[in-house]
Order: sequence, then structure tokens, then C-alpha cells
Amino acid sequence: MTAPRYRWQPTTAEIAERYNLDPEDVIRFDHNTSPFSTDWAPSIVAPMARRLNEYPGASYREIRRAAAGYLDIDEDNVVPGAGIDEIIGLVGRAFLGRGRRATAVTPTYPMYEIESGQRQAEFIAVQYGPDFEYPAEPFGEAAQTSDVTWMCVPNNPTGDRIPDETVKSIIEQARGVVVIDAAYAEFSDDNWASWIDRYDNLIVAYTLSKAFGLAGLRVGYAVSAPKIANQLDVVRPPGSISSMSSELAVVALAEPQRMQRRVARLTKERSRFADALDQLGIHPRRSHTNFLLTEIGHAASEIAEQLLTEGLVVRRFPDDHPLSYFLRFTVRAPHENDRLIDALWRQLP
Ligand code: PMP
Repeated sequence: MTAPRYRWQPTTAEIAERYNLDPEDVIRFDHNTSPFSTDWAPSIVAPMARRLNEYPGASYREIRRAAAGYLDIDEDNVVPGAGIDEIIGLVGRAFLGRGRRATAVTPTYPMYEIESGQRQAEFIAVQYGPDFEYPAEPFGEAAQTSDVTWMCVPNNPTGDRIPDETVKSIIEQARGVVVIDAAYAEFSDDNWASWIDRYDNLIVAYTLSKAFGLAGLRVGYAVSAPKIANQLDVVRPPGSISSMSSELAVVALAEPQRMQRRVARLTKERSRFADALDQLGIHPRRSHTNFLLTEIGHAASEIAEQLLTEGLVVRRFPDDHPLSYFLRFTVRAPHENDRLIDALWRQLP
């Protein structure tokens, strides 16, 4: 049996080469990353770049302390990792394996199913209902027999944010651990930190890749009661975050005001972008994130391909996916979004 795997998107360099474009003209609307430059970073890492002969401190105490300060929790609640993707891997190692069971709704972030499958656990995918109705009841039932219940709040790729009551009900029904993937939490003003005192089976996964705008660093962290944090730490590799990434993450977490200002700008731009799409006659779903999911119809894939020839990389979904008629657009800087809107005016029937 072949193990399930993640399919990587083509890189910017590959797209530029394929369509004979300048890489500077390729805009990523597919990764839900930030449009803001990180020009504050080089001066911070320059001194470190002379000391790369040594390993980073494997405990990543500084990241733990900075994340704990940012969320107003204790250091022993925090486990650092190379992005949420590594945290997902740690959860898999700690809690899944042959004979174990995991569940998530579908569609959602694909790594939960991939990780569960690679650990040879049984995976229960609970379908959203018609018109994106959240399958709270069957999902709660699946959680009752699962060792790991994966939840993405707000959800990628739908952009919706289920109410706290629904999250609570799933956690309270779950037999095993519940992972809230909070990759987009800063865009919906969520505050899960107080929940970890209430629920000793809860793991909340955070990242610096989205609202903090530092996807290239590969830094994330899990937040939970100390007992679970310890179980994750036991399976954590000693040095998966580079010293430079660690240093920059600490600075970013210590100054969340920069991130908050940017989230406010992106949220404003999200509504301008959504209005422009409305005017095109394609109506994005309400979003609590930095992306917009929009129904396009049967030409979705063809339009995505056309956009690609102009260097506009949008997220499309395979033909057998429930969202095959949809495209997902990351909210980027106004001039970048305008390029996409302009191209759509020309390409939509
Ligand atoms: N979770 C979700 C819901 C995501 O959308 C993504 C990235 N697209 C990730 C996790 C991966 O995040 P990271 O960069 O922290 O590994």
C-alpha cells in the first residue's frame, strides 16, 4: 500500500520558467501567506549568521518563553515545532499508530488525513452537509471513538468559524485528544489560551506563517496542559528550528503589535477584495481568515490555468474534490489583488 502524501504546489521559480515570466511578477494567491515584506529581519539575523557553526539550543526555551508571554500562559504549556506541519507530525507520533483512530471534517486542511494515514491509523472523514452546513452531530459521534480529533478553526479552505459552543461540544465528547489548528486564529480574534486550563485533552496549534507573515521561518508551537506538552516534547526532534528562525520568531512574538496592525489592514482589504469579486458576479463566502473561497463553476480549473500563464497562482481543487467548482484566493496587497481582479474581468465568461 502506498502511504498518502502531500502534493506540493509548483514553486515560483518553476512557474516563472514554465510560462516565461519574471519570478518577481509571480504572485502567490494559493498559500495564504502574507504580502508584507520582512525587511526588519536582516539586521536581527546578521550577527547570528556568523555563528552558524553551532546547533541551536535544543530546548528552544526562548521560543517557549516568547509564546507564553504572547498568549499569557506558562512556558510548560508550550512545545515549539517547525510550523504547524511539524506539530501535526508530533501529534501523530505521540497519539496515533496502527489500531488507533482519527477523525476530521472534510473539506479541511489535508495534512490531518495524511498524517493519520502515514501513521497507519484509521481515519474517519465527516462530510460537511449541503451548502457547507457543519456536520456537528456526526463529527461529535466520530470524536467519541477517536484517539485524535483534528479541527481547523477557522477552517481552511472554507473560511468559516464554527461557534465556541460547537467546539466545546466536540471537545467534551472526544475520547482522545482534540487538536485545534489555529493557523488563522489571529484573523478571527480567537483566544484559545484559557481553554487549555479547562480541557486537559486539548492541543492548540499556532503558527508564525500566517498573521505574523513569517512562513519562510518554519516556526509554530503547540499549546496544551503540561502533561500533553510533555508527551509531545518526548517525540520532538532536537533541532528542527534553525537558530536564525528561532531568533526572529522570538522578536516577532515579543512585538505582536506589528502583526495586529497588519491583520487590521488585511481584514479591511479582504472586504474591498470581496466587494470587487461580488461585482464580477462571483460571490465569495464569508471569511474569518486571510483568504476567500469563491464558487466559479465548471470552468474553475480552466480559469486557474489561464491565470497561471499571467503569473497569478490561485488555489484550485482536483476534479474529484467537493470544491472542484471553487477557487481560493489569498488576500494580498491591494495592487496585487487588483491584478487578479483585472485578469478575472478578462477571463470570466
Ligand atoms: N494548518 C493550516 C490550516 C494551514 O492552512 C497551513 C498552511 N497552509 C498549515 C497548518 C501549515 O502551517 P505551517 O506553515 O505552520 O506549517
